[in-house]
Amino acid sequence: MVGQRVHVVGAGIIGLSIAHEVARRGHTVTVLAEQRAQASVSSVAAAVWFPYRSGTSPSLPHWLLAARARFEQLAGDPATGVDLREGLVVERDHAVDRSWTAAVPQHHEATPGELPAGAVAGMWATVPVISMPHYLPWLEQACADRGVTFTARRVARVEDVAGGADLVVVAAGMGSGALLGDAALYPVHGQIVRLPNPGLTQWVTDTAHPEGLTYVVPRRDDIVCGGVAQVGSWATHPDPAVEQAILRRVTALVPALAGLPVLSRATGLRPARDALRLEPVAGYSVPVIACYGHGGAGVTLSWGCAEAVADLVDRT
Ligand SMILES: Cc1cc2nc3c(=O)[nH]c(=O)nc-3n(C[C@H](O)[C@H](O)[C@H](O)COP(=O)(O)OP(=O)(O)OC[C@H]3O[C@@H](n4cnc5c(N)ncnc54)[C@H](O)[C@@H]3O)c2cc1C
Repeated sequence: MVGQRVHVVGAGIIGLSIAHEVARRGHTVTVLAEQRAQASVSSVAAAVWFPYRSGTSPSLPHWLLAARARFEQLAGDPATGVDLREGLVVERDHAVDRSWTAAVPQHHEATPGELPAGAVAGMWATVPVISMPHYLPWLEQACADRGVTFTARRVARVEDVAGGADLVVVAAGMGSGALLGDAALYPVHGQIVRLPNPGLTQWVTDTAHPEGLTYVVPRRDDIVCGGVAQVGSWATHPDPAVEQAILRRVTALVPALAGLPVLSRATGLRPARDALRLEPVAGYSVPVIACYGHGGAGVTLSWGCAEAVADLVDRT
């Protein structure tokens, strides 16, 4: 049904992408969120297109492909902050899952000489790298251009925003668990440090590094270095010892980073579930659709999931 009044709870990458897609289909959308995107976990994302801790779902390959293709289109417009960049996925296990390469036309095997010590293989891939300080304001504006309106507020109960809506979408990241009484959602704490970019373009991820998750993602204006993936930790302050360890690991991986001053640091709680939740939820006075639990891949899956939610809205 077109022309429905849709309330979206959450203004991170997931809530905004959904708002955009649902408005594009001709519905009237209001986003209700405690924090704007620039203050959300989404603003902390590196953000390279890669399905890290994305949980399981039969639709995952489709969402990955759809989002990658959409970002590739957006890379044609410099104002979006999206660039296509080559990088290296370091592998430390011969049994590593390479199914993500099905969504990436440009990829090839790394040679042994291109790998760090301890790696058994690696894959070069050209994927979207999204400079979030450019992209999130662009996406907010793209929503506004489609008539989406924004209300700054904390939502305590889904029923509190059901009035005046034909349908509610819960896309509130870690806040979704409390809103829908879902104990299956858990935080995976992350920490990053940002350095000035001396001109690097290639990214590298070493997710199974023996001393901890390690990645270097050069963006438009800086380089995001990580990281940490502490399951169940609600820590919200950067730990200086962890930062020093990150800097040691990334400098070993990319020697050009040695001695660069720290621009800024941040932490974020990846909203994780063993299986991402994208489905209608029964039991409310209006139809409710859940879309959360994207773990370390919320940016990577954003457009794919947003299109799937818009399909559900159309069918409701
Ligand atoms: C260090 C780090 C690096 C990452 N790197 C990448 C990467 O390279 N690639 C990638 O794809 N992903 C990456 N991620 C993961 C990605 O950031 C998340 O998957 C994504 O941000 C989740 O988006 P979201 O919109 O669901 O949640 P959020 O960004 O947390 O947004 C939640 C929104 O809901 C609102 N909200 C919550 N509760 C309520 C409530 N009760 N009432 C009203 N509003 C509410 C918030 O205010 C906010 O607006 C990274 C994450 C971290 C921490």
